[in-house]
Amino acid sequence: MIEKKLHGHINKSDILKWLKEQDTHELERLYDVSELVRAGNVGNSVHLRGLVEISNHCIYQCKYCGIRSANRKISRYRMNEDEILKTVSKIEDAGLGTVVFQSGEDPGLKTDFIARIVSWIKTNTDLAVALSLGERTQDDIAAWRSAGADRYLLKFETSDTDLYHDIHLSSPGSGWDRFEMLKYMKDLGYEIGSGIMIGIPGQVYDSIADDLILFREFDLDMIAVGPYIPHPDTPLGNRKRSRGIPVDEQVPNTEQMTKKVLALSRIMCAQANIPSTSALSAVSGSFRGVGLSCGANVVMPNFTPLEYRLKYDIYPGKSSHIEAVYDDLKKILKEIRLFGREVGRGPGGRIRE
Ligand code: SAH
Repeated sequence: MIEKKLHGHINKSDILKWLKEQDTHELERLYDVSELVRAGNVGNSVHLRGLVEISNHCIYQCKYCGIRSANRKISRYRMNEDEILKTVSKIEDAGLGTVVFQSGEDPGLKTDFIARIVSWIKTNTDLAVALSLGERTQDDIAAWRSAGADRYLLKFETSDTDLYHDIHLSSPGSGWDRFEMLKYMKDLGYEIGSGIMIGIPGQVYDSIADDLILFREFDLDMIAVGPYIPHPDTPLGNRKRSRGIPVDEQVPNTEQMTKKVLALSRIMCAQANIPSTSALSAVSGSFRGVGLSCGANVVMPNFTPLEYRLKYDIYPGKSSHIEAVYDDLKKILKEIRLFGREVGRGPGGRIRE
């Protein structure tokens, strides 16, 4: 049974069994095991990462994403250096240990611009810096590592290559795939993060099992898993599933399905840092800590200035409960305590034993 298979020995048929499990008592057992693995490997602390969505410009056409370049309904912004550094100060003042910069695929975020900001933060603060700026050239990734960036997050979204190519129109990008990029980043000494969306139309259980096995093979330092949320202003917005996929093979984009994948990620990658994602809160109500009951140990409060937050509209409902940063943070801290957990101190990087 699963209790005996805690440390990475769970195989594909076990994974598939759990992905398809419907019995709520059995699932509670899965979540409990994931919590035991979490407590035994990364402890009781919940690390907070201050998220800053620095630009919603994007030259890509990902069929699911609200900030794809063809969406003319949103107005575009790119934060300037002063705005970014002021936001970083807020994150530092709030006592967090990590700042995360995220953006669309935006070549307007110049190599030197990001390098200068990273270098300033590393010189003047104790914050860890994580970047999630999409597909960039080897030179960019190396320059930012030299400037002091600690981590890079790049979700591979799905390991099903047909599905991947169906939902990502040929990208003008760098000519290397996300797996190659992750390997390159790892070799440069970044902590690497990746992840998937759950319930993409056309996504089958078998491919999620493969995704989980890849998390383990890559020995990911960070794993982000969130439900796919249809966005009405995207081509995928109203498609329920791809033609040719039997209804019972389509993975649902539900809270329960996402929690199963979170729990399995924890059991299979015991030492990874795993956030309770905001997409998961969006499908389950406003509760930010929902993933803390099934293996997550990270929450990422959003520090993007309010004037920009609604414009970083990757999926609906993402910023529906716009609150002042400190209120949002207060709520998150309260939830963490309700779960009997403590707030992590310091950068909260990957623990390796
Ligand atoms: N351009 C960067 C950052 C993208 S936004 C990159 O591609 O890596 C960060 C994440 O938002 C994406 O990785 C994707 O997993 C998620 N996302 C985008 N559209 C979504 C949707 N409709 N539902 C759920 N998640 C979505």
